[in-house]
Amino acid sequence: MCATGGQAEPARVDPTVMVRAAMLAGRVCRHVQRQMGPGGPLSHEGRRVIKADNSPVTIADFAAQAVVNRTLAEGLGAVKFGMMGEESGSHFDRPGGEAELAACVTALRDSGVWPEADATAVRAAVDLGAAESGAARDGLLAGAGGTSGGAGLLFTLDPIDGTKGFLKGRQYAVCLAQLAAAPALGPGLQPVGAVLVCPNLPGVREHEASDAELAGLEAVTFGRGVGGDDEQDAGTVMWTAGETPGVGVMDGSRLLAQRTGAFGAGDGRAVRLAEGVEPGHSNLSKFGVLLAALGGAGGGGAGGGGAGPGVKPSVRIDSQCKYAVVARGWADAYVRFPHRPPGNENIWDHASGVAMLRGVGCTVTDLDGRPLDFSGPKMTGNRGILGAPPALHARLLKVIAREGL
Ligand SMILES: [Mg+2]
Repeated sequence: MCATGGQAEPARVDPTVMVRAAMLAGRVCRHVQRQMGPGGPLSHEGRRVIKADNSPVTIADFAAQAVVNRTLAEGLGAVKFGMMGEESGSHFDRPGGEAELAACVTALRDSGVWPEADATAVRAAVDLGAAESGAARDGLLAGAGGTSGGAGLLFTLDPIDGTKGFLKGRQYAVCLAQLAAAPALGPGLQPVGAVLVCPNLPGVREHEASDAELAGLEAVTFGRGVGGDDEQDAGTVMWTAGETPGVGVMDGSRLLAQRTGAFGAGDGRAVRLAEGVEPGHSNLSKFGVLLAALGGAGGGGAGGGGAGPGVKPSVRIDSQCKYAVVARGWADAYVRFPHRPPGNENIWDHASGVAMLRGVGCTVTDLDGRPLDFSGPKMTGNRGILGAPPALHARLLKVIAREGL
């Protein structure tokens, strides 16, 4: 149990507990998204709420956070944990909050993930671990984590990453990561275990994807991945232990494949990037400049994908599904050009995805080559994200610096 530098090793959480928590969240999200679809009982606007920071949130965001926290608590038994989650139960104190909480309860019951849910328990579950997160974080940063029966366990959660995609029937992801001090990975806290559930991303049976299919991922509709038996149709489910190379890909409840090596471009062949969809989320015009510099036609982000001799059409999708697409080998690199000033990325928007890229052997830094720091809740020392196989990462880093991107 001893570790170097006076730091205890991070307490390990059974990955099946985290996978189960995130998969149950994916199930309730699918249930709600299906009901929001054409002809469904929930209209888009009727289930969209604007938070104080002007970002949209739905009842599914809260339901997903509640079921993740509840499942972690069950799986960890008496072990307390801290949670830096995106949502807060105080949302329900606003006008109309009571009806939204009731809708959460209904969704959790009807989807089967929490049949005996009630308003009091769901509200409490949304906030589970929030009050403990500060002390857990401080303890881990002080090197005190991982001892005394797991005291100092800390997670970060984005119950629905890509809510705009979720509302539009497109891609979204449930993103759960365990954080701990891990000097081998970077400064501060790092994701040392993570799950990424992408309910609308094709499952593991579809290993190869054509240009047309990849282009179609953006326009995925409400039917994708939501029909039939949830256990057999959970979309893409990935987990990784963070410091240990490898990413597991789940097929229903079975671990189907484990990937352990780096892959991808960097040898001069054409590069395919994973790119955002929402202009408000990332600076898509910089994508066009980057694609042109790589030998593309430019104009990425304007819808053209910037294809050219050195560049394949980008995969343009919402959420941390972009990381999943790179980890699955469908795209070569993840690049995030932030709109907002540097230091404003939320840790839960990247922790799981970064862990997956590391798991498959990619190098992941910020746009200036600095190591990422997930001590959170904001990534204050970082500007954007760049993740790719090592040789391609080095090449992209040079281009970004040269072009002043
Ligand atoms: Mg979210």
